[in-house]
Amino acid sequence: MTEKSYTDAVSENLAEIERHICDAASSVGKKREDIILLAATKTVPPEIINHAINSGIKYIGENRVQEFLSKEMDILPTVHRHFIGHLQTNKAKDIVGRVAMIESVHSLKLANLIGKLSCDLGIETDILLEVNIGKEENKSGFMKEELDEIIPQIAKIDGVNLRGLMTIPPICEKKTEIIPYFEEMYKLFIDNRAKKIDNVSMEYLSMGMSSDYAEAIKCGSNLVRVGTSLFGKRNYK
Ligand SMILES: *Cc1c(COP(=O)(O)O)cnc(C)c1O
Repeated sequence: MTEKSYTDAVSENLAEIERHICDAASSVGKKREDIILLAATKTVPPEIINHAINSGIKYIGENRVQEFLSKEMDILPTVHRHFIGHLQTNKAKDIVGRVAMIESVHSLKLANLIGKLSCDLGIETDILLEVNIGKEENKSGFMKEELDEIIPQIAKIDGVNLRGLMTIPPICEKKTEIIPYFEEMYKLFIDNRAKKIDNVSMEYLSMGMSSDYAEAIKCGSNLVRVGTSLFGKRNYK
C-alpha cells in the first residue's frame, strides 16, 4: 500500500467511527462531544498519527514507554497524550510530566510514585484507575472489591488527580458477552461518583475498543480507545 492510500483509509475509517460514536451517543441521550475518541497509536508511525490529528483526532494513547519516547518529538504538540499501557514503577519517571493522563494506574505503589514524581516537577498528573473487571490472572488492575479501600487512599496523594476508571474486559467471542462487564464498570463509576470524595472527580469512564466501542458508549463509557478500526491491523497487541 502506498503512503497516500494508507492516509486515505485512515480518513475514511475515522469518518465511519465518528458516525458510530454519534449513533451510539444519541441512542443514550448523549451528544458527540460528551464522548472522547482516543486513538490507540501503538505501532503507528508518527506521520500517520499526525494525519489522524489533522483529520480531527484530539487524543492519542500509547502503550509502551520506549515507543512513546521514540515518537514523542515527531507528533504534533496540540494533541492530548495519554499513557494506556502497563506502566512499571521503574519507568514511571519517563512518563510523568510528558502525558496529560495515565489511564492505567494498577497499584497504590504506582499512584504514590506518580504523585512523588509529579510533586518533584511541580505539577499534578491526572490518572484513571485500571479495574481488572474480569478478574483475569494475566491482567493488571484493581479488583472491584478493592476500590472502596483504595480510592480514599489515592485521593490523599499529593500530585495526582483521580479522574475516573478504565478497563480492558476479557476477550469475548460474542459482543453481547462483554455487556455485563461494561455494566458492572458503569455501576462502579456511578457509585464512586456519588460518594463525592474530596480530590476525586469521577468524570471519565474509559472503556471500549475497536470491536465494542459502540456497546461501551451505550453502557456509559465516555472515553473510547480505538486502534485497529482506525489504523488497520497491527502485528502486536
Ligand atoms: C491497543 C489498545 C487499544 C485499542 O485496541 P483496538 O482493538 O486495536 O482498538 C485500547 N486500549 C488499550 C489499553 C490498548 O492497548
